[in-house]
Amino acid sequence: MSRRVFLFVATAVVVMTGACRRADTASPQAKAVPATEPGIVTASMDTSVTPGDDFAAYANGKWVASTPIPDDRATIGAFYTADQERERQTRELLNAILASNPAPGSNDARIASYYRAYLDTDAMDRAGLAPAKADLDAIARIADKRQLSAAIGSTLRADTDPLNATNYQTPNLFGVFVTQALNMPGDAIPYLMQGGIGLPEREYYLSTAADMVRLRDAYRTYVTQILQLAGQPEPQQATARIIDLETKIARAHATREESEDFAKGAVLWTRAELERRAPGLDWPALLTAAQLGGVQTFQAYHAAAIPKLAALVSSEPLQAWKDWLTFHTLSQQANVLSRPFREASFAFNGTALQGTPKQRPREQLAMNAVSNALQDAVGKAYVDKYFPASAKAEVQKMAGEIKAAFARRVQAIDWMAPSTREEALRKVESIVIGVGYPDRWRDYSSLEIGNDPYANQKNAGLFEYRYQAGKIGKPVDRGEWWMPPQLVNAVNLPVQNALNFPAAILQRPFFDPRADAAFNYGAIGAVIGHEISHSFDNNGALFDSAGRLRNWWTANDFQRFAQAGRLLAAQYDQYEALPGLHVNGKLTLGENIADVAGLAAAYDAYTHSLGGTPAPAVQGFSGDQRFFIAYAQSWASKMREATLRQRIAVDGHAPGNFRALTVRNLDPWYAAFNVQPGQKLYLPPEQRVRIW
Ligand SMILES: [Zn+2]
Repeated sequence: MSRRVFLFVATAVVVMTGACRRADTASPQAKAVPATEPGIVTASMDTSVTPGDDFAAYANGKWVASTPIPDDRATIGAFYTADQERERQTRELLNAILASNPAPGSNDARIASYYRAYLDTDAMDRAGLAPAKADLDAIARIADKRQLSAAIGSTLRADTDPLNATNYQTPNLFGVFVTQALNMPGDAIPYLMQGGIGLPEREYYLSTAADMVRLRDAYRTYVTQILQLAGQPEPQQATARIIDLETKIARAHATREESEDFAKGAVLWTRAELERRAPGLDWPALLTAAQLGGVQTFQAYHAAAIPKLAALVSSEPLQAWKDWLTFHTLSQQANVLSRPFREASFAFNGTALQGTPKQRPREQLAMNAVSNALQDAVGKAYVDKYFPASAKAEVQKMAGEIKAAFARRVQAIDWMAPSTREEALRKVESIVIGVGYPDRWRDYSSLEIGNDPYANQKNAGLFEYRYQAGKIGKPVDRGEWWMPPQLVNAVNLPVQNALNFPAAILQRPFFDPRADAAFNYGAIGAVIGHEISHSFDNNGALFDSAGRLRNWWTANDFQRFAQAGRLLAAQYDQYEALPGLHVNGKLTLGENIADVAGLAAAYDAYTHSLGGTPAPAVQGFSGDQRFFIAYAQSWASKMREATLRQRIAVDGHAPGNFRALTVRNLDPWYAAFNVQPGQKLYLPPEQRVRIW
């Protein structure tokens, strides 16, 4: 199962294609190179390159030249390196649980059952379509639009996965996200979001670009294969109906840019307004089936799309909708069905969409699947074993220092009006920083896990949905986590004014308790600064200290801020990822602002931590040099061309090798590496972007 899109509350440091979440297409596998030296890896550097000409190659050149992308991966890099360690740890943990004969009903027993069932592909092959039969029969029995509305309602799931934010749309007609309203802090309400398509974005249906046409063909083939396997008597005709329906759904969708505009999403509808504004489907039937029958207020996040989607339920033939439900029910569960389903799913989701030639071994898929489905159960065991209290304390201390450095920077801005400055300071001071793992763990006692992998996966998705729906009407918990501890990533949650730094990213090459401050502030410090800065990027700046969407800027201040953003967007527009293919400075602006401001705050916190004592030279490099090299090494990355093209088109993050070049905006980098006019990365001081 793959959980789906949520674009705006969570902003990941990086999107790891599938590494953890889309267990059916994911990958990390090659052996991690054990790091023998603490701090930066000098063997990865190509010191024949002049730092001022190509800092990414200087820091990572030998690693790039000597590290092939394994066949079952779409990308590799620093996140991959940390993820391999996470994977080794999880494997060790899982083996211990499997060998321990856990007590029935315990979390360990759930973990063991889920894993074993997921691994047993022979049983899946023997079972054929049988596990899905009840679901398919229920779809076949749908006789009218009221029953269809109920069926759509019963498939709604929680959109809780910031990791997939830039990559996938939910295949269910609507996504549901639960938190406080955008412009009204208070109790949690459900957000209704557009969904219903199987390709990643609406442009995949509408664009005439050659690679989009090719992907549409691949999708058509995939849909037909799944329907054939399901015994659909006329798979070609049914495929045509599904593609036609999804193309209409895609046309109804808000564009990506519109989706990222919170002001457009800040629309509250009462239940009566929802029914009145979006006629065409039977809302009482849908909401009851979705366990939202008692809800009176909705955040109509895609307020323009929801009525169009509802109208399609009325205007499009019942048979098209039944075909669509059949296909998506099987496609979402293909990873736990018989071999032909699994292979068809990987050929499309892994190879066609991402260019990954080979699927990962089942053991690794199973491990990631259990880690997703029972994330707090695995997470609790993970941090008990691998995340010592000393690491938590050290990172908490660094985070406090970086927060303070950020506040000092805000105080030092001369052009800002006092009212803007005051709210900015209030906001930075009230950020809730979660390090390692949440204070409270999910209770899985009502989640039944047995030896049927199809039912297990479905139950886990439903359990998550019920958990999310259960928050409606209750006060928002600002300490709630949206990432599992065993995930190499980090996230900013503007509505909660909170950050999560999972335990799995708090290790090399991001954090090394053996290394000195130069390394740790340059690597994980910059990540922490990045996430803090998201609270003040072009999106985060729209939320105040209470997580409320409101304008707390004077017009003048916002203009200054926007001007700095334009300068930065122009800087990134110049980066060429492939011949003729440039980074989109506007699409990646929020991330790039966070990189620049985060690195600057981390640098300030680093120098502050030295207390006036010069850093020692280590490994032949000064403290400042190691700070910047550690930063660039934390953005080491290599991608397959197909993946790179897809990322440039849809990902809010610039490719890692360009993120490494953030250093050009900081004056101390010029001094540390004697960067001079005429060198390729040299920027005259007035072109170095300072934001915050
Ligand atoms: Zn980010």
